[in-house]
Amino acid sequence: MSEVPRSNAAARHDCHVRISHLRKCYGSVVAVRDVTIDVSPGEFLALLGPSGSGKTTLLMAVAGFDFPDSGRIEIGGEDVTWAAPNKRDLGMVFQRYTLFPHMSVLDNIAFPLRMRKVGRAQRNDRARAALKTVRLEGYGDRMPAQLSGGQQQRVALARAIVYNPKVLLMDEPLSALDKKLREEMQVEIKHLQRELGITVIFVTHDQTEALTMADRIAVLNFGELQQVGAPKDLYERPASAFVAGFIGETNFWPARAKADAAAGTEAEVELEGGDSARVLAVDGLRRGQAAQVAIRPEHIKLAPNGIGAAVEDAIYAGSITTLLAKTRGPTLRVRLETPEATPGGTIAVGWEPRNARAYAAS
Ligand code: ADP
Ligand code: MG
Repeated sequence: MSEVPRSNAAARHDCHVRISHLRKCYGSVVAVRDVTIDVSPGEFLALLGPSGSGKTTLLMAVAGFDFPDSGRIEIGGEDVTWAAPNKRDLGMVFQRYTLFPHMSVLDNIAFPLRMRKVGRAQRNDRARAALKTVRLEGYGDRMPAQLSGGQQQRVALARAIVYNPKVLLMDEPLSALDKKLREEMQVEIKHLQRELGITVIFVTHDQTEALTMADRIAVLNFGELQQVGAPKDLYERPASAFVAGFIGETNFWPARAKADAAAGTEAEVELEGGDSARVLAVDGLRRGQAAQVAIRPEHIKLAPNGIGAAVEDAIYAGSITTLLAKTRGPTLRVRLETPEATPGGTIAVGWEPRNARAYAAS
């Protein structure tokens, strides 16, 4: 597929999405709590969070299938908070296949055009072009039941893009597919998005999917926006213990600050179990304050005068080995290229203070 440069794509569509101070409750449950996200034209934004974190609620408010209690949604500079779904110029793909079972593939794809009173000849031409875009040329006459799950999701995608919407919303569209197909579709959707120059908001609970596909990821937990950033930012500089634990692999070590430390400076802490260490006080710490120290397995190094640990297990995975090393506090996962220690032995470990991110316990 040819790739349209992002700058051209942005010029083609006025597809800027702004979600401002959005709030939505169901009874006593706050499903979305004061969420503000600015999605640039042509951007691929993933909404990532565990089940029940408010992802679907947020997406439904953008789609217009549900209305917020407060806050505002703008698409292309226009306030659409209270506009009907069909006035928002959006395409949508859901988790389960939502094709009309009694209509052919081509008629399914042409359906939104029929709703928009496009004539039959033009409708079929555009539906065929959309079918080609999702690499299902020649499948137009089939019925949905004659297609595999992955093919049905491609048809749903073709139907969502056939009227050239400004924004494509997707709610866990790949979660019903097996791993191999899911990975293929992740790449295809990404290519398609670049080709069309369209803004995409993509809901997933799968961190690998979000890291693979998104330009930026918005992490939600209990309806609250934890952090928005590029995959690398989130991985390297998680803003909260939740993000550190949700994205990638992390060791958590409870600790207590030995002295006051300003936000973003190094702090001396006493780790659970009694060892001392230097860490980064992400939001600042007061003397005596409890904290969680998050350290990635690959950031723990062997250090001659470091913290002692007993190797309990070694998990070999080709170029790297993960040691499970019991300290006087937690058992750490330590990732090494050439581990010299084996189960039953001991190691001494340490880390760069900036790689041990201390979050004040709430
Ligand atoms: P996610 O898509 O991240 O799994 P949802 O947006 O579906 O999360 O749900 C967020 C919260 O709102 C959950 O606690 C859920 O139980 C609640 N919720 C969602 N929809 C409804 C509804 N129609 N009625 C009552 N509670 C709801
Ligand atoms: Mg959901």
